[in-house]
This record gives sequence, structure tokens and C-alpha cells, in this order.
Amino acid sequence: TKAILPVPTQPSEVTELAHSFNTLLTTINDHASQEREFISNAAHELRTPIAAIRGHVRLIERRGAEHPEIIPRSVKFIDDESQRMQKLVNSLLTLSRADRGTLQLDYFDLAEALNETVEEERTVLKQPLEVAGVVSTVIYGNAESVQQIVAALLDNAGKYSPVDQPITVRLVKTATAVQLQVVDHGPGIADVDKSHIFERFYRVDSARTRQIGGTGLGLAIVAQLVALNRATITVQDNHPQGSQFIVAFPLSQPNSDKLSD
Ligand code: ADP
Repeated sequence: TKAILPVPTQPSEVTELAHSFNTLLTTINDHASQEREFISNAAHELRTPIAAIRGHVRLIERRGAEHPEIIPRSVKFIDDESQRMQKLVNSLLTLSRADRGTLQLDYFDLAEALNETVEEERTVLKQPLEVAGVVSTVIYGNAESVQQIVAALLDNAGKYSPVDQPITVRLVKTATAVQLQVVDHGPGIADVDKSHIFERFYRVDSARTRQIGGTGLGLAIVAQLVALNRATITVQDNHPQGSQFIVAFPLSQPNSDKLSD
């Protein structure tokens, strides 16, 4: 049997061990500070709608009897803001489940899963939805979460691109992977933002996106689900305009590499 931590015998081994230990400590600290930042962001995001709701409740209390005409507007406001809170809380729960979780992975037909989601999204999206290259392709992953990923990317494409421009879902096979692409003709994403959009609560333009009503958690959830599927996600420019999200599922067999650990 092998010792788990070999006792260092050479000075160089001691240095190496100290280095590993430092790296580990840094990782733990980074994790803790990310956690703190996440909680503080979540609290802040919830505080805004709560303050707005309370403001309108006060308004109705003070002036509702004398000016009943103000009531419908305030009720609408309260309804909108509580819906916003509900979405946020749902996203936080999804994220925390994905954080802790593992997914049941299995072989499934990506085209079948995609077609189902595309048909559902057709009823929601204002833009025409085009499909390309969606032919039977068996991959190893979790079908339901892949559908969640596609739905989230399509919802974003719908939110951020003009209604008269088509959105495309495309499957492309490369030598080593199957790429699932979601392409739109919206404003695109600036290079400086590309590396940040998968971070929790990150929004490119909070003034504009607040109006659109996002939480800044959609792509963070997508990234987490992508990782649980052992896939990768990247974003590129679509020419002449728009963005292209690419989810790549490796074609290798699950037991042909180190996936069993
Ligand atoms: P949100 O809830 O704000 O949509 P996301 O995490 O889904 O949050 O997206 C993060 C940010 O990335 C958005 O606020 C938006 O600025 C940008 N973004 C996401 N998808 C697109 C897209 N298809 N086109 C342009 N910008 C996008």
C-alpha cells in the first residue's frame, strides 16, 4: 500500500509540499471570499424590489382611501416587483442545487432533446426560430439539463435581439466534439465582457438590462449545468452582428478517459 502523503526527504520536496499547501490555502480563501460576495450580491438584488414594494404599500395606506385611482398602478408595481423577486429566488435555488449537485449522465439523442425544446420556445419567442444540422446525434450527458441550457440561451437571444431577426439553433460535428450553437443578430457582446458574462450577477449594461428584467444569473446557471455535463461553453461574435454561444460536448466515451473519478 502507498502512503497518501509521502514524507518529504529532500529539501526540494519540502519546498514543493509547502508550495502545494499555499496553493490549497489560496484556493480555500478565494472560495470563501467568492461566497461572501455572492451572498452580498444576492441580498442587494433582493433589497431593491423589497424597498419598492414597501414604498407602494405605504403609498396605498396613506393616500389610497382619498385617491383610490392610484391603487391599480401601485398594485401592478407590487405584482411586477414580486415576480422579479420570485424569479431571482428561483434562480438562486437552481444555482445552489447545481453547485452541490451531480447529474445522472446517460446516452441520449441530442437532436430529439433539442427539437422538443425548440418547439416549446417557438411559442414563447417573438423572433423566427431556425434550426440547422439537427440530425440524430447520441451524446453522453443529462438530457433535461441540456434542454434547460438551450432554453436559457434561447431566452437570452430573444431578450437581447430584435424581433424581426431570426435566431438559429445549430448542431455542428467536429472531429472531437458536437457543438450546439445558438446564434442571434442582437447587439453582440463586447470583448471585454465576454470573459465575465458567465459570472454570477454580471450584466453588461445594468441600466438597460434592468429594464429587460434579467437577474444576471441566467448564464451562471448555464455555465454550471454545462460543467455538470462535462461540456464547455464559449461565446463568439456572429457576423455581421450578434452573438454565438457554443456548447461543445466531447465525443469521447465516458470511460475512455478519466471521467470515472
Ligand atoms: P440576465 O438575467 O441579465 O440576462 P445572464 O446571466 O443571462 O443575465 O446574462 C448576462 C449578461 O450577458 C446580460 O445581462 C446581457 O448583458 C448579456 N447577454 C446575454 N446573452 C446575450 C445575447 N444573446 N446578446 C447580447 N447580450 C447578451
